[in-house]
Amino acid sequence: MKTSRAEAERLLAIGEKLLQSRDLSSSRDFAILAQEAEPLLEGSDQILAIVEVLLAAEKPITNDHLDWYAILQVDRTCQDLDLIKKQYRRLGLLLHPDKNPFSLADHAFKLVSDAWAVLSDPVQKAIYDRDVAGSVEPESFWTACPYCYFLYEYPAVCEGCCLRCQNCERSFHGLSIPSLPPLVPGQEAYYCNWGCLPMGFVFGNLGSDGPGPGPGPMVENGPTAVAVSNGVNVASRKRGRPRKGV
Ligand SMILES: [Zn+2]
Repeated sequence: MKTSRAEAERLLAIGEKLLQSRDLSSSRDFAILAQEAEPLLEGSDQILAIVEVLLAAEKPITNDHLDWYAILQVDRTCQDLDLIKKQYRRLGLLLHPDKNPFSLADHAFKLVSDAWAVLSDPVQKAIYDRDVAGSVEPESFWTACPYCYFLYEYPAVCEGCCLRCQNCERSFHGLSIPSLPPLVPGQEAYYCNWGCLPMGFVFGNLGSDGPGPGPGPMVENGPTAVAVSNGVNVASRKRGRPRKGV
């Protein structure tokens, strides 16, 4: 019968192999399993530290900006330099290539060092915070044109504003409707009708992003509340109610 330690070592060896092949999520799973089997087993926390840092680095905030906060595993609104320093020290100890024998430890260590270089310097941190501030996905709400029942998603700042329907061109009050239209046909529901929209109507100002493969809502990134004509376009319309004025 296997001891829990032998089992933990087996799991950790798998996690290590997965890390070598850069299968980060699976590597993490096995490191966690190893840790659960034998909490004192050396190495599982080192693998976890590498994987968490590399996974955070895979999700940059913009093309130019890695998410330094996620890399140090602190909240993006964190202003607590002591906490940031504590995280840097903890991860630095776990990841230092002299101490951490696993693949990619050097890479993760460099990321943590770079994160600390930015976030520990008030000037660099302020510039970074400013640069990424506009990139956080804006809050939005859904509203419906009361005349033609087209649905729109707008930035939250437009809520309560007078909006202009891009379908029937009438003005209406931008009242929030409680929830996203369900994308499942068959219920007393809304359904997505991307396919029914004339080419160029919906996607005209979305640039290279284009329509995704799925029916997800398209969110206009522009922050202006008044640029109604640049607002988000129709995602769906109400079933059973014919459009008017098309
Ligand atoms: Zn309308």
